Amino acid sequence: MPMEVLARAAEGLGLPLSAQQLQQFEEYYHELIAANRHVNLTSITDYQEVQRRHFGESLAVGAALYRAGVLKPGETARVLDLGAGAGFPGLPMRIAHPALRLTILEATRKKTAFLERLVTRLSLEGVTVITGRAEIVAHEPAHREGYDLALARAVAPLAVLVELALPFLKVGGCLATPKGSRASQEMAEADRALALCGGRIVSAEPLPSPTPTLTLVLVEKLAPTPAAYPRRPGAPTKRPLH
Ligand code: SAH
Repeated sequence: MPMEVLARAAEGLGLPLSAQQLQQFEEYYHELIAANRHVNLTSITDYQEVQRRHFGESLAVGAALYRAGVLKPGETARVLDLGAGAGFPGLPMRIAHPALRLTILEATRKKTAFLERLVTRLSLEGVTVITGRAEIVAHEPAHREGYDLALARAVAPLAVLVELALPFLKVGGCLATPKGSRASQEMAEADRALALCGGRIVSAEPLPSPTPTLTLVLVEKLAPTPAAYPRRPGAPTKRPLH
């Protein structure tokens, strides 16, 4: 059976994957490894490690969001994956949960070229790939306050992410970001960004197996974000709203 490690991890999350879904992950793996020869997509290339760290971890994020009631089984939701790189965590979540309408935002053209090919190859509907920076795209009317959920893994510290992601969310929407050992410190440093951008941390829970060392930080958007945010490209990172 292909993707055996992932299949077991998904079952552990209460999310059995069909043979067709496992086949999609198998193709995802091969496309990733082939493209990684020319484009810097991932330092993890081992078959089992990709299943655990990229696919499994992404599905764990999804499982936690369904458990928290942020996502509801079978219901559509507009989801943005900000700084998706090779598609994590949004694309594995979309493969597992076809009701999600996913927009992938990634600044690097070579990475979005890979993602576009992959989405076509896997026949995934309801997935849009955008090449661009969050600082620009967040000011476009089609995207501002247009999403129920924003995801971001390994993109920026929480204070920076709050400025980049909250403008995309509808009031009542959520930002979900898995964080490592610096989670508490990043949360403490995000107070001002949260106050300025209209957000509040609602929870910070350990992610379920297979990634017990990660904390999923959930931020709810309580009020519209002022039009000044996000600031121009680079500014959120260079001068975080601390
Ligand atoms: N989320 C993926 C990739 C992490 S690397 C994963 O977990 O594997 C971070 C990615 O975010 C890079 O590909 C980078 O190009 C993208 N990125 C960083 N800042 C961005 C911004 N302001 N707008 C859009 N993409 C951004």
